Amino acid sequence: MTAVTGHSDTACRKCVPQCRHRTPGSLLFCRKHTTTRDSGTKQTKDSFTNAQLLGGHRSSRVPRHELRNVLEGNMDANNRVAIIGAGPVGLTAALGLAQRGVPCVIYESLRTIPREQRGAAFHPPTLEMLHKLGVGKPLMQMGLRVSTWQMRDRVDGVYAEFDLGLLADVTDFPFRFHLPQHYLSAILLDELRRRPNVEIRFGETLESIEPEADSVRLVFATAGGPRETTAPWVVGADGAHSTVRKNAGFSFHGFTWQEKFLVTNVCNPLETLGYTGTTYVSDPDAWAVVLKLYDEQRDDLWRVAMPAAADIEDSVLLEPESVQRRLRETLGSEMPFSLAYSGTYRVHQRVADSFVKGRVILAGDAAHINNPIGGFGLNGGVHDACNLAPRLADVWHGRTGSEALHLYSRQRRTVALEVVQKNSIRNKKLMDERDPEARRRNQQVLRSISLDPEKSREYLMETSMLSAVVSAEQIR
Ligand SMILES: Cc1cc2nc3c(=O)[nH]c(=O)nc-3n(C[C@H](O)[C@H](O)[C@H](O)COP(=O)(O)OP(=O)(O)OC[C@H]3O[C@@H](n4cnc5c(N)ncnc54)[C@H](O)[C@@H]3O)c2cc1C
Repeated sequence: MTAVTGHSDTACRKCVPQCRHRTPGSLLFCRKHTTTRDSGTKQTKDSFTNAQLLGGHRSSRVPRHELRNVLEGNMDANNRVAIIGAGPVGLTAALGLAQRGVPCVIYESLRTIPREQRGAAFHPPTLEMLHKLGVGKPLMQMGLRVSTWQMRDRVDGVYAEFDLGLLADVTDFPFRFHLPQHYLSAILLDELRRRPNVEIRFGETLESIEPEADSVRLVFATAGGPRETTAPWVVGADGAHSTVRKNAGFSFHGFTWQEKFLVTNVCNPLETLGYTGTTYVSDPDAWAVVLKLYDEQRDDLWRVAMPAAADIEDSVLLEPESVQRRLRETLGSEMPFSLAYSGTYRVHQRVADSFVKGRVILAGDAAHINNPIGGFGLNGGVHDACNLAPRLADVWHGRTGSEALHLYSRQRRTVALEVVQKNSIRNKKLMDERDPEARRRNQQVLRSISLDPEKSREYLMETSMLSAVVSAEQIR
């Protein structure tokens, strides 16, 4: 709770009673308490070999003879779970399966782990799951821990602030953790390379799948020509344009937002403008999501995502002067922005009709996609993988029937529809509401939630996805 009474008007809530250094524009906290860099040992890129970061084969820690045994003799190549896609979801699912003694083969069309500018915010339950998987510690030797997030009106300023510290009694990770998702992928890949029951095949693109009596036939395009294989189970973790989903006949209902999203990374100290590590800026035309990003070299890297007209060519939208103008208008500052990245993308809200059909299972963006406001995509995908792995392992070992997979589908699809879709759409509407009266009402409601400890806690449980994990487990 962020109780108001008893504190001076300018005191930071975490330094009370004496602190007078509240960040300009922040309702509750001083600069020291808006974003904290992890004080643990810093893992540098050099801790991974470059080949590991890039997904090359040469750095494999599995001795060659061991790998050959696995592939040629000790492991039936046709009895491995096939995972399509080496994004964060496919790699998480693979590690969860491998740890339970299930042999897997991961197929990835790229020659490296994707390192695009994508998900960069981890919620508390995701950190809990990654710790259980054994990769939490290396992950959290990097990154930023952001304990408070802020909601602003672009014109009127901050109207609510939330302190994830309120959840310290329910989670070991009462903060958002900011780290580009490819760091997670590199750590997972590193772990997978140590496991003799996992093979990773880069540069192989799934082209088609065909169900057979007790298996699924898969056809890949590779540099050496087409390649066919079979697998008893296929996990489609091949992202939003999933070939698995399309080929296996899943439908993917929903809609596409009219506007594009313009994503920029800038190197400027936005704390000086009063932004906390996570800020949502409301405005009918110039709303934004502002996140502080982790970077090994510098401490002033920020992501600013804004809307962009769908009918304007990218070449125009991405002209440096046009991006500068948008940043100045949105962030309310005349400072010159040091642009490190800019790009646009289309955003959809869609969920597959089921996450399991026969021997084909969907997870992550292949199963559900949503706008990035609230940071549910990457997190929800990791939750899918962690829910799926123990159930599929039980099925593979013959300890249970395939009904376990249908429970996975029911639990995760319900969360996708009732939590992720609902909240991400609500968040976007909150940010771009055009009706001034409705906008004022929404902001008042959020302000009163933020000032009430019980309501604030409930809101944080929902927005950090903690309640979604609990409610999914209750679905039978
Ligand atoms: C700009 C942006 C910002 C985002 N910000 C956030 C955020 O802050 N928080 C958050 O939670 N989420 C965020 N997301 C969403 C998040 O990035 C995705 O939800 C996440 O990447 C999904 O992971 P995935 O493994 O399911 O799919 P992907 O990461 O898309 O991985 C799929 C993999 O499959 C491979 N593949 C595809 N087709 C084939 C094929 N036929 N054969 C073999 N391999 C194939 C691809 O090359 C890729 O490596 C953001 C997304 C974008 C675009």
